[in-house]
Amino acid sequence: MTIAAPVDVVWAAYTAAVGTPDVAGAPDTRAAGCARCGLTTAVMSPVGQVVSRRFTGYESWTNLAGRSLCEVCVWVYRHRSLRTDAHIVTRDPVTLTPANPALLQQVFSTSVGADTAVIVPLRPGRKHLLPDARWGTVTVDDAQLSWTSADAHRLVVMRRLRAHGFSERMLGDDTPAYPVLNRVAADQWPQVFDDWNHLAPWRQAAPWFEVGLRATR
Ligand SMILES: [Zn+2]
Repeated sequence: MTIAAPVDVVWAAYTAAVGTPDVAGAPDTRAAGCARCGLTTAVMSPVGQVVSRRFTGYESWTNLAGRSLCEVCVWVYRHRSLRTDAHIVTRDPVTLTPANPALLQQVFSTSVGADTAVIVPLRPGRKHLLPDARWGTVTVDDAQLSWTSADAHRLVVMRRLRAHGFSERMLGDDTPAYPVLNRVAADQWPQVFDDWNHLAPWRQAAPWFEVGLRATR
């Protein structure tokens, strides 16, 4: 199904997973609109019934005058799998797909375009990430990352190094661990060193490095 762009990632995900939301029209007052997205659906739920007292994700809410959440936003906070599993959302057509490492590797094999949002919980279940997701970015705990063709290439490099037997911990070191290197044919050493240097920018940028590890498991 295609819905008019621009649409927020949560609304696209809901439309793909549940169906077209039962929209009630523009709210009469800001207080009547959804606190997260500002829109209204036929059924609205008081904020306090949906998020706990310890909830801290208000930064991405667009209508703090709102006293309630629409059915779309209630859904995004109540579905546990949305908090624990990696997902890919697209807007044309709208899709919501749980992403295993193979699928992450596929979507990260090129830059992430403006019609796609990727959500990767690095510490699953700790935070709601989908409500913060933006088109054209990778949302991880506490950060929105771009994913360029250079990152796509680094992912290929990381996979190649892992195939040689380098562990996740070793990949974070500045030089290749000798016991593993020693098992690699000598004519491949220049490639290994070249690949190793290629990952240097990621070693300085922990979220990208962690996403790379997740996608190559
Ligand atoms: Zn809403």
